[in-house]
Amino acid sequence: MGILLAKFSPEYIIRIIGLDNSGKTTILYRLKGDQSSISTVSTNGFNLETIQCMNKNLVIWDIGGHRNVRNLYRHYYPQSHALIFVVDASDHQRIDEMKDEFAEVLKCSEGVPTVLILNKQDKENAMTESFIKEQLKLDDIKDRKWFVQLTSALNSESNSSLLQWLSNNI
Ligand code: GDP
Repeated sequence: MGILLAKFSPEYIIRIIGLDNSGKTTILYRLKGDQSSISTVSTNGFNLETIQCMNKNLVIWDIGGHRNVRNLYRHYYPQSHALIFVVDASDHQRIDEMKDEFAEVLKCSEGVPTVLILNKQDKENAMTESFIKEQLKLDDIKDRKWFVQLTSALNSESNSSLLQWLSNNI
Protein backbone atom coordinates (compact mmCIF):
# COMPACT_ATOMS: atom_id res chain seq x y z
CA MET A 1 0.00 0.00 0.00
CA GLY A 2 2.80 2.39 0.99
CA ILE A 3 4.69 1.62 -2.21
CA LEU A 4 1.53 2.15 -4.27
CA LEU A 5 0.89 5.51 -2.62
CA ALA A 6 4.48 6.56 -3.22
CA LYS A 7 4.18 5.61 -6.89
CA PHE A 8 1.19 7.86 -7.50
CA SER A 9 2.15 10.75 -5.23
CA PRO A 10 3.26 13.95 -6.96
CA GLU A 11 6.98 14.69 -6.94
CA TYR A 12 8.55 17.91 -5.74
CA ILE A 13 12.18 18.89 -6.32
CA ILE A 14 13.96 20.33 -3.30
CA ARG A 15 17.60 21.39 -3.31
CA ILE A 16 19.68 21.41 -0.16
CA ILE A 17 22.42 24.00 -0.51
CA GLY A 18 24.93 26.02 1.52
CA LEU A 19 28.66 26.23 2.10
CA ASP A 20 30.70 23.03 2.31
CA ASN A 21 30.90 21.53 5.80
CA SER A 22 27.65 23.21 6.93
CA GLY A 23 26.01 19.81 7.49
CA LYS A 24 23.93 19.31 4.32
CA THR A 25 24.62 15.60 3.90
CA THR A 26 24.13 14.91 7.61
CA ILE A 27 20.78 16.72 7.49
CA LEU A 28 19.70 14.83 4.39
CA TYR A 29 20.31 11.51 6.13
CA ARG A 30 18.63 12.77 9.27
CA LEU A 31 15.55 13.65 7.16
CA LYS A 32 15.64 10.22 5.65
CA GLY A 33 15.74 8.68 9.11
CA ASP A 34 12.61 10.56 10.18
CA GLN A 35 10.40 9.55 7.26
CA SER A 36 9.82 6.57 5.05
CA SER A 37 12.47 6.85 2.40
CA ILE A 38 11.56 5.61 -1.05
CA SER A 39 14.91 5.68 -2.75
CA THR A 40 18.51 6.68 -2.25
CA VAL A 41 21.08 7.58 -4.87
CA SER A 42 24.59 8.41 -3.74
CA THR A 43 27.25 9.08 -6.33
CA ASN A 44 30.43 11.04 -6.45
CA GLY A 45 29.38 14.65 -6.08
CA PHE A 46 25.75 14.40 -5.07
CA ASN A 47 23.22 12.54 -2.94
CA LEU A 48 19.56 12.17 -3.81
CA GLU A 49 16.81 11.05 -1.46
CA THR A 50 13.12 10.64 -2.13
CA ILE A 51 11.14 11.00 1.07
CA GLN A 52 7.39 10.70 1.39
CA CYS A 53 5.62 13.27 3.52
CA MET A 54 1.88 14.06 3.58
CA ASN A 55 1.30 12.12 0.34
CA LYS A 56 3.97 14.07 -1.48
CA ASN A 57 7.24 12.67 -2.72
CA LEU A 58 9.99 15.11 -1.80
CA VAL A 59 12.97 14.53 -4.08
CA ILE A 60 15.82 16.13 -2.16
CA TRP A 61 19.11 16.88 -3.94
CA ASP A 62 22.31 17.47 -2.01
CA ILE A 63 24.65 18.76 -4.68
CA GLY A 64 27.75 19.52 -2.68
CA GLY A 65 29.00 22.84 -1.43
CA HIS A 66 32.24 23.67 -3.19
CA ARG A 67 32.18 26.96 -5.03
CA ASN A 68 32.59 25.53 -8.55
CA VAL A 69 29.73 23.07 -7.98
CA ARG A 70 27.48 25.78 -6.51
CA ASN A 71 28.11 28.03 -9.50
CA LEU A 72 27.27 25.19 -11.87
CA TYR A 73 23.97 24.30 -10.24
CA ARG A 74 22.66 27.79 -9.54
CA HIS A 75 20.62 27.89 -12.74
CA TYR A 76 18.57 24.93 -11.47
CA TYR A 77 17.36 26.83 -8.39
CA PRO A 78 14.45 28.64 -10.12
CA GLN A 79 13.11 25.28 -11.35
CA SER A 80 13.00 23.86 -7.83
CA HIS A 81 9.87 23.64 -5.69
CA ALA A 82 11.82 24.64 -2.58
CA LEU A 83 15.35 25.32 -1.36
CA ILE A 84 16.91 24.36 1.96
CA PHE A 85 19.86 26.63 2.76
CA VAL A 86 22.06 25.20 5.52
CA VAL A 87 24.17 27.45 7.73
CA ASP A 88 26.91 26.26 10.08
CA ALA A 89 25.95 28.55 12.95
CA SER A 90 29.34 27.99 14.59
CA ASP A 91 31.36 29.12 11.55
CA HIS A 92 32.09 32.73 12.53
CA GLN A 93 35.04 32.91 10.13
CA ARG A 94 32.97 32.36 7.00
CA ILE A 95 30.00 34.55 7.85
CA ASP A 96 30.81 36.92 4.97
CA GLU A 97 31.10 34.05 2.48
CA MET A 98 27.80 32.67 3.78
CA LYS A 99 26.10 36.08 3.40
CA ASP A 100 27.38 36.41 -0.19
CA GLU A 101 26.25 32.90 -1.04
CA PHE A 102 22.79 33.44 0.44
CA ALA A 103 22.43 36.74 -1.45
CA GLU A 104 23.38 34.95 -4.70
CA VAL A 105 20.85 32.21 -3.99
CA LEU A 106 18.07 34.74 -3.38
CA LYS A 107 18.98 36.61 -6.56
CA CYS A 108 18.52 33.57 -8.79
CA SER A 109 15.53 31.86 -7.16
CA GLU A 110 12.76 34.43 -7.06
CA GLY A 111 9.55 33.08 -5.52
CA VAL A 112 10.98 29.67 -4.54
CA PRO A 113 9.97 28.78 -0.94
CA THR A 114 13.13 28.68 1.17
CA VAL A 115 14.00 27.06 4.47
CA LEU A 116 17.02 28.31 6.35
CA ILE A 117 18.51 25.70 8.67
CA LEU A 118 20.77 27.09 11.39
CA ASN A 119 22.74 23.95 12.10
CA LYS A 120 25.30 22.93 14.74
CA GLN A 121 23.29 24.38 17.62
CA ASP A 122 25.07 21.93 19.93
CA LYS A 123 28.27 23.95 19.59
CA GLU A 124 28.89 26.42 22.38
CA ASN A 125 30.00 29.18 20.02
CA ALA A 126 26.91 28.96 17.78
CA MET A 127 25.76 32.39 16.60
CA THR A 128 22.27 33.34 17.75
CA GLU A 129 19.23 33.12 15.53
CA SER A 130 18.63 36.87 15.73
CA PHE A 131 22.25 37.63 14.77
CA ILE A 132 22.15 35.36 11.70
CA LYS A 133 18.70 36.66 10.68
CA GLU A 134 20.05 40.18 10.84
CA GLN A 135 23.21 39.29 8.90
CA LEU A 136 21.20 37.63 6.14
CA LYS A 137 18.54 40.39 6.17
CA LEU A 138 15.80 37.80 6.41
CA ASP A 139 13.12 40.29 7.35
CA ASP A 140 13.69 42.06 4.02
CA ILE A 141 12.74 38.97 2.00
CA LYS A 142 9.39 39.67 0.39
CA ASP A 143 9.46 37.58 -2.79
CA ARG A 144 8.87 34.12 -1.25
CA LYS A 145 7.68 32.16 1.75
CA TRP A 146 10.53 31.37 4.15
CA PHE A 147 11.04 29.51 7.36
CA VAL A 148 13.87 29.22 9.89
CA GLN A 149 14.70 25.96 11.66
CA LEU A 150 17.37 25.54 14.36
CA THR A 151 18.95 22.10 14.41
CA SER A 152 21.79 20.00 15.58
CA ALA A 153 21.94 17.39 12.86
CA LEU A 154 24.33 15.23 14.85
CA ASN A 155 21.79 14.77 17.64
CA SER A 156 18.58 12.89 17.18
CA GLU A 157 16.36 15.92 16.76
CA SER A 158 13.23 15.45 14.72
CA ASN A 159 12.81 17.39 11.50
CA SER A 160 9.06 16.89 11.37
CA SER A 161 8.24 20.63 11.55
CA LEU A 162 10.61 21.30 8.64
CA LEU A 163 9.06 18.55 6.49
CA GLN A 164 5.58 19.70 7.42
CA TRP A 165 6.40 23.29 6.44
CA LEU A 166 7.81 22.09 3.11
CA SER A 167 4.80 19.90 2.40
CA ASN A 168 2.43 22.78 3.16
CA ASN A 169 4.29 25.41 1.17
CA ILE A 170 5.52 23.77 -2.03
P1 GDP B 1 28.30 19.16 4.01
O1 GDP B 1 29.66 19.39 3.43
O2 GDP B 1 27.53 20.46 4.08
O3 GDP B 1 27.50 18.07 3.37
O4 GDP B 1 28.52 18.76 5.55
P2 GDP B 1 28.50 17.31 6.23
O5 GDP B 1 27.11 16.83 6.41
O6 GDP B 1 29.46 16.43 5.53
O7 GDP B 1 29.05 17.69 7.68
C1 GDP B 1 30.33 18.32 7.83
C2 GDP B 1 30.86 18.02 9.23
O8 GDP B 1 30.04 18.65 10.22
C3 GDP B 1 30.84 16.53 9.56
O9 GDP B 1 32.00 16.25 10.33
C4 GDP B 1 29.57 16.37 10.39
O10 GDP B 1 29.66 15.28 11.29
C5 GDP B 1 29.55 17.69 11.14
N1 GDP B 1 28.21 18.10 11.55
C6 GDP B 1 27.07 18.11 10.79
N2 GDP B 1 26.03 18.58 11.50
C7 GDP B 1 26.51 18.87 12.76
C8 GDP B 1 25.92 19.40 13.96
O11 GDP B 1 24.73 19.70 14.05
N3 GDP B 1 26.77 19.58 15.03
C9 GDP B 1 28.10 19.27 14.98
N4 GDP B 1 28.82 19.48 16.08
N5 GDP B 1 28.68 18.78 13.87
C10 GDP B 1 27.90 18.59 12.77
